[in-house]
Amino acid sequence: MLRSNRTYSVMSNGHSLFMIQASELYRLQEIDLNVQQHHKRLDEIAAQLADNKALADAQKQVTDDQAVLTPLQSKVRKLEQDILSNSNKVKETDEALYSGRVRNPKELQDMQQEIQSLKKRNQELEDILLETMLSVDEATAALKDSTTKFETIRAQFETANKNLIDEQKRLRSEGNALLKSREQLIPTIDPSILKIYSNMRPRKNNQAVAVLVNQSCSVCRVQQDMNVIQAVRKGESLTYCSSCGRILIYRTG
Ligand SMILES: [Zn+2]
Repeated sequence: MLRSNRTYSVMSNGHSLFMIQASELYRLQEIDLNVQQHHKRLDEIAAQLADNKALADAQKQVTDDQAVLTPLQSKVRKLEQDILSNSNKVKETDEALYSGRVRNPKELQDMQQEIQSLKKRNQELEDILLETMLSVDEATAALKDSTTKFETIRAQFETANKNLIDEQKRLRSEGNALLKSREQLIPTIDPSILKIYSNMRPRKNNQAVAVLVNQSCSVCRVQQDMNVIQAVRKGESLTYCSSCGRILIYRTG
């Protein structure tokens, strides 16, 4: 009774009539319910894995230590550049001073003063650089320490939560496979039926499709009238449960 290859039957008057792809519609609902369960469980796992203060604290310490180290490293680079630039200026001024090109005593004096002042400034900068480099060493050691601690706690956490992490991996891969089969299934179902199914899902506890079982709706269990039963068995048009309003389908086997 599978009608997968017959989307429409064409009546003699030329109007097309839906043939309900019962198996496909039912399979779609199974996939959608399955996807939903996967999401629910993945959310639970994510919440359990996130709920670990020791790991979060260790992670935060690494971030904090990195935040201390990075600006210190930038400061070292800036100081080294400034010192180099001052040294170059000293060298240039020195060369100009002894080149014999400048003869004005006032100008010569200014140049000597500039050299003195640059050298003095560089001494100050060297002191700051030395201090900063010591701070960089300290911050690097702290970061190394907190990183080691974090790795240890993470390894312990992963061992302790191995089952959850494995389940998470399995659910993700199953979820991807489900979405793929959903993508393949969608084009085999008439778009207007899909739209009705999608609109109805949220209102019917995600179960828009029910099966006719022994003349009754499989979800609400209410026995159907004879005309409903016949229409469902013919499968020529969408038929709804007379009680809960779900799409009723007939499945054999
Ligand atoms: Zn029903």
